[in-house]
Amino acid sequence: MLRPRGFHPFLARSLRRPCPGRTSAGLQSPLLRDVDACSQVSEWSLGIAAPTETRAHTEVEASSSDPPTYCNLSLSDLQIHRGAAPAQLPDLVGLPFGTHFTDHMLEVEWTAERGWGAPRIVPFHNLSVHPAAHALHYAVEIFEGMKAYHTQSGGAQLFRPVDNMIRMNLSAQRLCLPTFDPVEMAMLLQKFVEVELAWVPPHIGHSLYVRPTLISMQDRIALSATEKALFYAIASPVGPYFPTGLKAIRLLATTKYTRAPHGGTGDAKCGGNYGGTIRPEWEARQAGCAQNLWLLGDDEAAVVTEAGTMNFFMLWRESETAPLELVTPPLDGTILPGITRDTVLQLAPLVWPGLRVVQRQFTIADLCEAANAGRIVEAFGTGTACILCPIEAIRYHGQDYKIPTRPAEQARQTVQAGKLTQALTSAILDIQHGRRQPPAGLTHWTVPVTHDEGQGL
Ligand SMILES: *Cc1c(COP(=O)(O)O)cnc(C)c1O
Repeated sequence: MLRPRGFHPFLARSLRRPCPGRTSAGLQSPLLRDVDACSQVSEWSLGIAAPTETRAHTEVEASSSDPPTYCNLSLSDLQIHRGAAPAQLPDLVGLPFGTHFTDHMLEVEWTAERGWGAPRIVPFHNLSVHPAAHALHYAVEIFEGMKAYHTQSGGAQLFRPVDNMIRMNLSAQRLCLPTFDPVEMAMLLQKFVEVELAWVPPHIGHSLYVRPTLISMQDRIALSATEKALFYAIASPVGPYFPTGLKAIRLLATTKYTRAPHGGTGDAKCGGNYGGTIRPEWEARQAGCAQNLWLLGDDEAAVVTEAGTMNFFMLWRESETAPLELVTPPLDGTILPGITRDTVLQLAPLVWPGLRVVQRQFTIADLCEAANAGRIVEAFGTGTACILCPIEAIRYHGQDYKIPTRPAEQARQTVQAGKLTQALTSAILDIQHGRRQPPAGLTHWTVPVTHDEGQGL
């Protein structure tokens, strides 16, 4: 059964639980396919020699009670209202990130009395929001970032959309926003992308970025749980994050600011986590760095958590005698459970057979010491926008700790990234564009979007 790894066990249960009173005959999800063991190591292998330790996982325990689930969201209630077709699509290449939006949007209203209303795909429009809405005053807002990629068949495919909707449910739970059936919502997004298929750029590395959003429409000043909310999704064609090949960045490590404390909302993708990071990022840029390396704790004992809005990975030896391992901090509540993070955790041992992959805490002192001793082989951030972003240095207390990248001329592109970073990037890109099947047992990672007949439902 479908069981995303490295995520909260609630996810698996919510996927399996059928919604009472709903038959999904004829709407059977193409997303849900049985999952068997992952075994295609040889097909994935790049032939890099590696030590043979088994991988270790730490998982966050399930909480004892499930959140309330509102099961009445249904694809069968979808209404499609098309706007007048645009005279001509803009040139989809070279648009600045997230500035041009497609012609339509998906909307679903929710109230505590009636649950989810009928989903609608309607022409793109501004929202009418009450000036007291909790989304505006108290940042009761969550969002997701996912992409649809062009495939050789002329259609497109979404990458791990159910996982995004599962994560959105967890964020919703944290902010007392309504939850929904993640498969049903993923199918609605699939239909939305189908309507906007012409906007999926037909180039490798380009994609249609989809931004599902859920805002509290609670329209009184008193702080309380949400009784009125709006889910919507908008979409924007985007180019590759690195148009001229992977380019390494430098990070500013600081304990001056905290991205997410223990018991906070670090594991929820909520708007409230991001406004406060704009100033630290501006300061990082003043110091000649692209983003912050977020630390949690005091001085040298501070643990490394995330890199900007990316999860952080290192290929290193923990000590002179330790084996090489790929390490990332565990999901302890301060870390956003990235879909790309999980993808890397699952693909790394296939791309590099036998590679030890661990989720473990490490401090900034560990990192600096390892960099000085030459024990860090590669470091990168992961996220939907960039996939993998190589890291060439960490600046801490005014000193640069260098991490190797391998500048190399490849097909007229300057690639500035280590071997594993490059291999994972191209493996993921190949899966996203359908040039390669997901590993055995993980076929639900890609969800096809085929040509819309223009009929509506
Ligand atoms: C969105 C996000 C990520 C990356 O998540 P993906 O699902 O891989 O796109 C990592 N860290 C933070 C803080 C984020 O907001």
